Amino acid sequence: MTAARATRSATFDSTSPATGEVIATFPVDGPDQVEAAVARARQAQRGWAELGFDGRRRALLAFKALLVRRTDELVALVHRENGKPHADALIELLLSAEHLDWAARHAARVLGPRRAAGTLMLANHAAWVEYQPLGVVGVIGPWNYPVFTPLGSIIYALAAGNAVVFKPSELTPAVGCFLADSFADAVGDRAVFQVVTGDGTTGEALCRAGVDKVAFTGSPATGRKVMAACAERLTPVVLELGGKDAMIVDEDADLDAAASQAVWGGMANAGQTCLAVERVYVVDAVYDRFLDRLVERASRVRPGAGPGADFGPITRPAQLEVIARHLDDAFVRGARAVVGGPEAVRPPFVDPVVLVDVPADALVMREETFGPVLPVVRARDADHAVALANADPYGLGAAVFATRRAEPIARALRSGMASINSVLTFAGMPSLPLGGVGESGFGRVHGPDGLREFTNPKAITRQRFALPFPVQSFDRPGYLLPALRQAMRLRHGRAPRK
Ligand code: NDP
Repeated sequence: MTAARATRSATFDSTSPATGEVIATFPVDGPDQVEAAVARARQAQRGWAELGFDGRRRALLAFKALLVRRTDELVALVHRENGKPHADALIELLLSAEHLDWAARHAARVLGPRRAAGTLMLANHAAWVEYQPLGVVGVIGPWNYPVFTPLGSIIYALAAGNAVVFKPSELTPAVGCFLADSFADAVGDRAVFQVVTGDGTTGEALCRAGVDKVAFTGSPATGRKVMAACAERLTPVVLELGGKDAMIVDEDADLDAAASQAVWGGMANAGQTCLAVERVYVVDAVYDRFLDRLVERASRVRPGAGPGADFGPITRPAQLEVIARHLDDAFVRGARAVVGGPEAVRPPFVDPVVLVDVPADALVMREETFGPVLPVVRARDADHAVALANADPYGLGAAVFATRRAEPIARALRSGMASINSVLTFAGMPSLPLGGVGESGFGRVHGPDGLREFTNPKAITRQRFALPFPVQSFDRPGYLLPALRQAMRLRHGRAPRK
């Protein structure tokens, strides 16, 4: 610990995954810098909370407007630092603007004081809930959606009246700083939303810095470390972790739409999406027809760094090894590629791969691949498809292509979200919560639940008038309890009629 507290000396470069070009150099912030940032945030939070819902709404809308006016700059930076095509970076910003708008405009309604009903016994008390800000929220984000994903926590934490200290991935620090600088320029305050930069040690320092909650988005392995570090000070956490999302195609699905969305859901952003379609289960009756359509579409998709590319390079070099390992393992176990093949991995790019005949115990069926790889599995019927999909410890999102049984299937899938006849739609809908079950984490960002996630629901009662015979008092008369016992029997003692 003492050695780790040495003053800031190290720096690191952020580089383009496509060209290796150095984009900028950043400090590796240690515990001292992180604690100083949290202390500044704590000071600033009071003023931010005192702005009230209306003041924060105006500030957040100003932040949104400035980000949108800086679209060209931000899109170009995301393209350079993360590698994704300009179009994908633009979609990220567009979705973020919608979330900013929603959180800014709905925080007052969702978090404003809410009257609570009393009971007969406490009819002389008024009661209500106030959703108070937690204080300082530490946000730790990944690199795959460097704008949309961290803002999904940051915006909602800010709208609820918290200050934020954000630790972006070491692969996308420039984008993180761009977001905080834009907030400071729009709002005129540099301490309400700050960035600390560095590697995993900086994230760890943030977990130990006495923040009031940590909102972590990343892999389950790091999520466990974050939770362990936060446990030391009982700092609460929301964990948005990885996924192995399944798509189910039932016999009455629109097969063209399903194939088109499978390719988009599995291969957009080179498959580097927590909510990417990573497994496709197709009922036997339409399997061959679906596969033909999928192969035809996936064969046309091309990675690259230029303007015509459908998706960019693999951002994190180590992920190339994971993808290659998943493919090798699948082929050794008897899988066949109907699009692409073993040669698909050609750093820094990976060509689209569609796999069939993949056994359920293959790595590509069990672990997050995070590449443009789609295993397609034949299922007897929709129930079989659901059972196969649910036999996985992840539970983030899911997609269903069906008509008659679409809703029961969506309901039966063990996941935090499900979309019917589209993929990933829930993430773009600010009024819906986003989060997972099982290995995909817990807690929610986005929507009313995402706003409440960053608050302390404070219950308050106020006695309006005193009862002649108080129940919860040593002064109550002796006959009161037997009378109450009788009243309880009358009110609660009858079983409901069948
Ligand atoms: P990681 O888990 O590797 O890293 C996430 C963040 O945690 C990074 O900022 C990282 O810093 C930081 N970190 C690393 N070690 C520690 C530590 N010991 N304590 C605290 N923080 C630490 O994930 P990736 O960045 O590789 O992101 C990909 C993962 O994120 C995938 O599993 C993906 O599914 C998931 N994800 C989940 C989403 C969701 O909403 N559920 C959305 C987007 C992605 P550094 O990068 O500097 O090492």
